[in-house]
Amino acid sequence: MAENSPQKHYDVIIIGSGPAGYTAGVYTSRAKLSVLVVTGTLPGGQLMTTSEVENYPGFPSGIFGPELMMNMRQQAERFGAVVVDDEVTQVDFKKRPFKVTTHSESYDSDAVIVCTGASPRKLGLKSEQQFGGRGVSYCATCDGPFFKGEDIVVVGGGDTAVEEATFLTKFGKSVKVVHRRDTLSASKIMQEKALNNPKIEFVWNNVVSDIKGDKKVGTVLVKDLKSGKETTLKAGGLFVAIGHEPNTSIFKGQIDLDDKGYITLKEHTRTNVEGVFAAGDVHDHRYRQAVTAAGFGCMAAIDVERWLSEKRANVRR
Ligand code: FAD
Ligand code: NAP
Repeated sequence: MAENSPQKHYDVIIIGSGPAGYTAGVYTSRAKLSVLVVTGTLPGGQLMTTSEVENYPGFPSGIFGPELMMNMRQQAERFGAVVVDDEVTQVDFKKRPFKVTTHSESYDSDAVIVCTGASPRKLGLKSEQQFGGRGVSYCATCDGPFFKGEDIVVVGGGDTAVEEATFLTKFGKSVKVVHRRDTLSASKIMQEKALNNPKIEFVWNNVVSDIKGDKKVGTVLVKDLKSGKETTLKAGGLFVAIGHEPNTSIFKGQIDLDDKGYITLKEHTRTNVEGVFAAGDVHDHRYRQAVTAAGFGCMAAIDVERWLSEKRANVRR
């Protein structure tokens, strides 16, 4: 916890504490703004749920996700950002100063950066939780290289599933795509690539019904939705690629969201509400990487600092 005790008004409140939130915290507090970061129920964000991160620049031997995120938190606190482990339950962006309410406090600020990320959709199986980080993954770009020579199962039929399956053929011995329909919704060009890839086999009209193994995933059970027949697939890894849900329910009616619930940006990192900015997976469903989220956090912080300076200069004039 930062030495600074929480105050009620801040120049900027950052909602969310993944790579986007903490990076925005480093930049805004280093720019001498008063900064509050509200961490949410997953302090450190999605990387707290993984082991080794091999693709974050600056760590040639890799770094554990939780260690990377603790480092980012300390870096933001070093420059004076106040970090509170609480969840925002309500926001009022209708007038400035903006109001941000958590379970235990109410704060206000001149600017807000929304960094609440997105959560991978889950299959909802008990065994999925049990094998999380032990063969069950939600990100091929992140974890693919850990599955060299393995039989791999991918679930889903959209662009992500098809793209991830194609990517995973670089590492896996075989890749099976389990999809609950008999057609894909992925773009035609990506479908063609996957359908013509000899390493990829499609298991149509099937859903994953269970995951079994000893210390890690060993087999994946699938159920045919037409016949009800269950089949056991040998698998060292299961990649769940059935979409993401942006964490934006509290912003409905406050800022513009697209039809999937992601925040839409107007200009650089600005939302449609002047003074409210967004960064990371909460608006970016294309890249979804720690380094891109951190990059967006930096951009939002610079935009906030410039916007506040302009506003304050205008008031003085
Ligand atoms: P997130 O990390 O999603 O953080 C969102 C934050 O918002 C959380 O702190 C949450 O508590 C907070 N929040 C949500 N709602 C509220 C609220 N109401 N009030 C306050 N706070 C709130 N990427 C890589 O580059 N390399 C990898 O190796 C890698 N491995 C991954 C492994 C796994 C298992 C997963 C799930 C993802 C992985 N990723 C990896 C992707 C990467 O983690 C994300 O792209 C990145 O974390 C997105 O950062 P973010 O800051 O936008 O949001
Ligand atoms: P998506 O398009 O929503 O597809 C989700 C897939 O998962 C669908 O096949 C869906 O099947 C299936 N699914 C959903 N819930 C399921 C469940 N509980 N059990 C089993 N299957 C389930 O998600 P996405 O593929 O992640 O793509 C998200 C967005 O990003 C899209 O707009 C996509 O075009 C874009 N994207 C683009 C690229 C690219 O251009 N390179 C790459 C990746 C993603 P149903 O059809 O039956 O619902």
